[in-house]
Amino acid sequence: MKTLDEVAEFHGHVCPGLAIGYRAAKYALEQLGERSADEELVAIVENDSCAVDAVQVLTGCTFGKGNFIFRDYGKQVYTFIRRPSGEALRISVDWVAPEETDAEKEAWAKYMGGDRSDEVQKVVHQRKSNKIRSIMDAGDEQLFKVTRPAVDLPSEARIYPSVRCSACGEKVMEPRARLRDGKAVCLPCFEAKR
Ligand SMILES: [Zn+2]
Ligand SMILES: [Zn+2]
Repeated sequence: MKTLDEVAEFHGHVCPGLAIGYRAAKYALEQLGERSADEELVAIVENDSCAVDAVQVLTGCTFGKGNFIFRDYGKQVYTFIRRPSGEALRISVDWVAPEETDAEKEAWAKYMGGDRSDEVQKVVHQRKSNKIRSIMDAGDEQLFKVTRPAVDLPSEARIYPSVRCSACGEKVMEPRARLRDGKAVCLPCFEAKR
């Protein structure tokens, strides 16, 4: 399994969100087995935070492969489904951050107010590191509420033929094309004012 640092190479930095996604994805793989070389595993994520980058790198469920589904609910919930069995795991993150000290609260308020002095940055950075460590060291039961719901198996990614847009000349996937005066056009051209 990839380490958090390896995942950070993709994401760009290490942060508490990435750590949450890392733990959720790691747990899912432990429960459901093997990362997804093709589309054996499907991930449904309910937010688009830093965490979902870790989910993609660790599980192999990626936006581009179509086995990574984003539902814009703003929730820290990750559902994984194994194909073809349909075995599913719903992981709801229920982690509580360690209590902030007064010094940390004060530094954070200053930081949000635009203060980037060494002193403030140091406290803010330390607080972030503490959070990451707390997430990485926590037991699964401290981090997640897990259920095994019955879910409908999402359909596999489909490949569609392309048609050429009669306005801009670029190719567009057929189901996304629109008709204008009986000719196929892409959505940006369809929506553009004439
Ligand atoms: Zn991040
Ligand atoms: Zn066009």
